[in-house]
Amino acid sequence: MSSQEHPLGISFEFFPPSTEAGREKLIHVRDALAATNPRFFSVTYGAGGSTQARTQDIVRRVSESGITTAPHLSCIGSEKAQLRDLLAQYREEGVESLVALRGDLPSGMASIGELRYANELVEFIRAETGDHFNIAVAAYPESHPQAANLERDVENFARKMNAGADMAITQYFFTADAYFHFVERARAHGVTQPIIPGIMPITNYTKLARFSDACGAEIPRWIRKQLESFGDDHESIAAFGTEVVTRLSQRLLDGGAPGLHFYTLNQSAPVLKVVNNLVG
Ligand code: FAD
Repeated sequence: MSSQEHPLGISFEFFPPSTEAGREKLIHVRDALAATNPRFFSVTYGAGGSTQARTQDIVRRVSESGITTAPHLSCIGSEKAQLRDLLAQYREEGVESLVALRGDLPSGMASIGELRYANELVEFIRAETGDHFNIAVAAYPESHPQAANLERDVENFARKMNAGADMAITQYFFTADAYFHFVERARAHGVTQPIIPGIMPITNYTKLARFSDACGAEIPRWIRKQLESFGDDHESIAAFGTEVVTRLSQRLLDGGAPGLHFYTLNQSAPVLKVVNNLVG
């Protein structure tokens, strides 16, 4: 950790915008967030390589901030040769960190590809590139939606960490105990690497509800009810969202979380409000 780094070990995730206007706006968001001295930025990736070029372009633009920038990389629907090429390109461009994922097969894509799970991708990256990349993987405190049960999911998670991952970033959640319980289970399975909670700001109830249903993140009833009662009152949603997410983040840090990874949705204001409320 550099002496400049934010003392709470925060990091921020972006997605690659599909329009030039979106890309320009992202540069401003990047700069506003770079001013907090995050540990790193990350940029998401479409499964099956659907946003490969866009992810690479945004990684270049975001890394011009001087902050370490980690591309996400998923293996489902890809052949080893494609992944090998992409790893070589990232190496050439000076990328040193990756978020390694299985991803989800896009509808209409028939072939799973040569690697079935994220642990196989981590093994592949290590076999191809040794210790060059710092590798983060995904974790699911409330269980991955396809997992048979939490215990099986934790076993699979431990396999992925043992394959050579350096750290994990979690899916977002709103119940701090889900994170603490997951970390405890992972430690019982011998995982020693840092597990960083993923934090989703609350700004738009409809979108959040749709997203949460798809990825298996639970919005507790009291939060749902309160957000529903605000209707189209965006100011009240934002104020309540900041309060809830600040309290969650603070609880996680106070309970020993080794940092916070914010899902920015390419907006700086909602996450900055939370970051500025936190105390070390
Ligand atoms: P895995 O770890 O492979 O797990 C997938 C499922 O298979 C789980 O149910 C697990 O229990 C099971 N499993 C794992 N290994 C084995 C095994 N060896 N044998 C049998 N079962 C196994 N998606 C994107 O498309 N692009 C992104 O950029 C992206 N970024 C993300 C970042 C974070 C931090 C998180 C939490 C998620 C992200 N996702 C992204 C979503 C992710 O791709 C999906 O959740 C996907 O369904 C699972 O990917 P994974 O790497 O967690 O898979």
